[in-house]
Amino acid sequence: MNVMFRSTRDAQNRVTASQAILKGLAEDGGLFVPEQIPQLDVPLEALAGMSYHETAYAVMKQFLTDYTEEELKSCIRQAYDAKFDTDEIAPLREADGAYYLELFHGATIAFKDMALSILPYLMTTAAKKNREEHEIVILTATSGDTGKAALAGFADVPGTRIIVFYPKDGVSAIQERQMVTQKGANTCVIGIRGNFDDAQSGVKRLFSDAALGTELLQAGFRFSSANSINIGRLVPQIVYYVYAYGRLLKSGRIQAGDSIHVVVPTGNFGNILAAFYAKNMGLPIGRLICASNENKVLFDFFQTGVYDRNREFILTTSPSMDILISSNLERLIYRMAGDDAAKNTELMNELAQTGRYTVTEEMRAKMQDFCGGYATLEQTAQEIARMYRTDGYVLDPHTAVASHVYHTWRQETGDAAPAVIASTASPYKFARSVMEAIDSAYGEKEDFALIDELSRVSGTAVPRAIEEIREAPVLHDQVIDVGEMKAAVKAFLGM
Ligand SMILES: *Cc1c(COP(=O)(O)O)cnc(C)c1O
Repeated sequence: MNVMFRSTRDAQNRVTASQAILKGLAEDGGLFVPEQIPQLDVPLEALAGMSYHETAYAVMKQFLTDYTEEELKSCIRQAYDAKFDTDEIAPLREADGAYYLELFHGATIAFKDMALSILPYLMTTAAKKNREEHEIVILTATSGDTGKAALAGFADVPGTRIIVFYPKDGVSAIQERQMVTQKGANTCVIGIRGNFDDAQSGVKRLFSDAALGTELLQAGFRFSSANSINIGRLVPQIVYYVYAYGRLLKSGRIQAGDSIHVVVPTGNFGNILAAFYAKNMGLPIGRLICASNENKVLFDFFQTGVYDRNREFILTTSPSMDILISSNLERLIYRMAGDDAAKNTELMNELAQTGRYTVTEEMRAKMQDFCGGYATLEQTAQEIARMYRTDGYVLDPHTAVASHVYHTWRQETGDAAPAVIASTASPYKFARSVMEAIDSAYGEKEDFALIDELSRVSGTAVPRAIEEIREAPVLHDQVIDVGEMKAAVKAFLGM
């Protein structure tokens, strides 16, 4: 089956997978979605015996149908290699009656590595296939983790440049250090005076600036995106849910056909959307539990059917979820509206103009697979301390949000079916919040001293990604206002 992709805002805008990956965002401001979600073509039982690479190929070939077998296998092989510090790529750890899918063993120790290790290969292959002659400029807004993972993926990749905008005071100290020490002549990292939504909206404006687009083409460049609005980020994420199912089968925790729940700490709605796609491919997933921090716009949405971003933006200890405009929700809205681009556009225009929209009862009825929960700052810290004391397992704050939401939901519903919790970052990335949650006395210490304490209390080795930045020099120190983003891009490109 040949899968084509359509914009959520214009049914006539129809492209191949490789074209969708090259473009990132559709010209009309919409997101590319598969016209139909393909089914897994391997029997569930077979998943038990498949490696991460084999699972990745089985899933991705169903969506990226204009890539040849050789191209896809080569991308997978180059992406999932010794950059990961475990052979399993995504180990499943059982703790306190749930399964934590550790997605943080890649180069930058957050789950963004799962997709951003392979995106540069998918994109350069797409450029060749489509005879793209312009240099690709990856333009990215980050709430902390995408930026570093994209930088690591694209640094020194021929034919590409990458520009990352992050909220200057909205990321952890370690996250910032990881980004500002990035090497590679094709990389550029800029702090924004504003929050993540400001950075993301600024990037979207640059994408839809037609005059700038023309100037870029003349200068030999074309924008693309490494944010989860790029379908090339979403498809590789479907893999790990299928893989987790295979691991549970292999260990005899479930039988083929048994249903599992999936719990995802959510910000831009990319990761949980990938789980939704996995379910629609035929993977037996029961509930999709969407966990938010105090920026609980998604919790309220699933509760009421009203999406309302008109509220205070709260800086929390899980900064990668400090988001009020969850871009990928648009893909779900489009689908719930019956693949209706006009209806979706109407709602998205409402969001842009008034900051809110309401879905119909009919659309709400179709979203029953999802349920929402959230954790406050205090509940997040308590969950880190609780898991450490009961199991000796140290969670990062994002994973702790999900863990809290899951255990609360399980208590309320009494539903004890196996649950996979997406463990999205290494605790080392958020050493300060983690150590203060374990014992407030740690608050006195300096960041790298906390790293060493964390290693001691958790009995785990300090990851290479952290050792590398201990002494590394700062190479990027530019901080600008949101209004200066366009000028900064042009300056970096020498335009
Ligand atoms: C990006 C991120 C999230 C949120 O993922 P989305 O796909 O944006 O919903 C959660 N946790 C961590 C650690 C992240 O980096």
